[in-house]
Amino acid sequence: MPLRIIRNDITKMKVDAIVNAAKSSLLGGGGVDGAIHEAAGPGLLEECKALGGCETGGAKITGAYSLPCKHVIHTVGPVYRDGKHGEPELLGSCYRESLRLAKEAGCESVAFPLISSGVYGYPKAEALRIAVDTIGEFLEDNDTTVYIVIFDRTAYRIGEKLYSDIEAYIDDKYVDEHSDGFAERHRRMLFARRDEIEEDSVCACMPMSAPKMAAPMSLEDAVGQIDESFSDMLLRKIDESGMTDAQVYKKANIDRKLFSKIRSAKNYKPSKPTALAFAIALELSLDETKDLLMKAGFALSHSSKSDIIIEYFISHGNYNIFEINEALFAFDQSLLGA
Ligand code: ADP
Repeated sequence: MPLRIIRNDITKMKVDAIVNAAKSSLLGGGGVDGAIHEAAGPGLLEECKALGGCETGGAKITGAYSLPCKHVIHTVGPVYRDGKHGEPELLGSCYRESLRLAKEAGCESVAFPLISSGVYGYPKAEALRIAVDTIGEFLEDNDTTVYIVIFDRTAYRIGEKLYSDIEAYIDDKYVDEHSDGFAERHRRMLFARRDEIEEDSVCACMPMSAPKMAAPMSLEDAVGQIDESFSDMLLRKIDESGMTDAQVYKKANIDRKLFSKIRSAKNYKPSKPTALAFAIALELSLDETKDLLMKAGFALSHSSKSDIIIEYFISHGNYNIFEINEALFAFDQSLLGA
């Protein structure tokens, strides 16, 4: 089941469990902790008082009181010092422990804030990386929908290097597409005209023989020659990849129900983000990606920022859908997969 990165206030999430970035006392605080306690009402603090605190990297579960979710999982993130004091392991443990409790409580959907990335000072790009990797590992074996809820736009930063690389790539591609100035158009026109003239002159020298005409095909035959459909090609590529169906739809961040629909309907027409998500999961080359998209009636275009970002990842051999989605999100584009 998928990981989704969304912008929202976590207290508004109608999921089975939301996760609170709590202090070790579990007695409330500022930031997301304050917002959760305020929205839940005093019953939450009463229940928390009985828990006896929580160690860093650990998690505890309570009811949700006036919140629209069913449970609150309180986890205590590490305070960031320099990254060399066990912070990454502790932060990873916050996500793992929270997901373990969520699973024990039978939760099918869980929403996380970006733990430790506020007052506790964890650099946001690194905090996000750990969140995405740890949740991604959990989702390999579990059918849960997990949200990372980003509150404010500035809270969201993918790695500066990746961001600027993608920005440069987009600029390059835009330049390629839009460098169609007068001189270039003129040059192309000249070439086109020369081709026409050369073709004309060849024709003029050739003995005129009656052109060979193929017998006209019946409409039925023509329709019978229809290409492999999207789902045919998808299933063939899955077979060729040696992966199981489940490995592919998980890697594509697509949920099982949608995949079964595609599997059972030969002429299923997916949305473009779904088709692209499968191309990424199957680690198709750029040309194969274009082929698969074409089967669903789409193309990759350099007039689309999101297409260029996806092309960037494919051409760099990076098929991690979560990283691609992080980048799409950072550039304000819609995400791949479900
Ligand atoms: P920590 O002490 O673990 O750093 P904070 O609450 O200070 O916790 O911040 C954690 C993250 O939660 C920050 O990125 C902050 O922007 C975000 N945040 C704050 N309020 C909300 C909210 N209502 N919903 C979702 N995220 C929030």
